[in-house]
Amino acid sequence: MQPPRPQSWPTLPVAGDDGVVGVRRILCIGKNYAAHAAEMGDPGARPIHFTKSPDALLAAPGPVAMPYPPRTHDLHHELELVLCLGAGGRDVPVADAWDLVWGYAVGLDMTRRDLQAAAKAKGGPWASAKDFDAAAIVGAVVPATRVGRLTSGRLRLEVNGQVRQDADLSQMTWPIPALLAELSTLMTLRAGDLVFTGTPEGVGPVVPGDELRGHIEGVGQLAVTIA
Ligand code: MN
Repeated sequence: MQPPRPQSWPTLPVAGDDGVVGVRRILCIGKNYAAHAAEMGDPGARPIHFTKSPDALLAAPGPVAMPYPPRTHDLHHELELVLCLGAGGRDVPVADAWDLVWGYAVGLDMTRRDLQAAAKAKGGPWASAKDFDAAAIVGAVVPATRVGRLTSGRLRLEVNGQVRQDADLSQMTWPIPALLAELSTLMTLRAGDLVFTGTPEGVGPVVPGDELRGHIEGVGQLAVTIA
């Protein structure tokens, strides 16, 4: 056996041209929509931060299949706006935080909800619930130069044609500049970081054969079949 070789970062395509962006790290915000925190039994929660490995990325510039993961009987969808950072920093002021955003994508933070519930019950970490193969499904990245600063816009997820999640980006507890400023007090943010910005209410289970279609106004769409 050879020692593992250093590899380059995973990539995501840029929407509408031949470009790609590198994915250095996947940062996630949880409980960033009040109605979702409430449906999870934690009304009034302050948003939280967790991570997924870059290896969990499933790029979805077109329709993709996600294999149903092991060790769960309750795989949930969480539709989210994803930020692609083109610059970083520490202790970034809210007023400067928009300058970090290179682009946006539609994402699904796939979650093994039963493992998350078990972790919560024991006060343990969420890694097994959040970080697994294809747990971070992300579409093509739309440059911010094309769509500007996203402070509102409808997010909508259908499963087999039925609407499950339907909300607006303006309902975030921590809007984009606030969540980037907060994250930058915890670590040095860097170009290539992806940031899942939290899911609105309506999360629920999916099973093999289900067809998921996510859409975020101004950003694009995502089509995923559970295999
Ligand atoms: Mn989430």
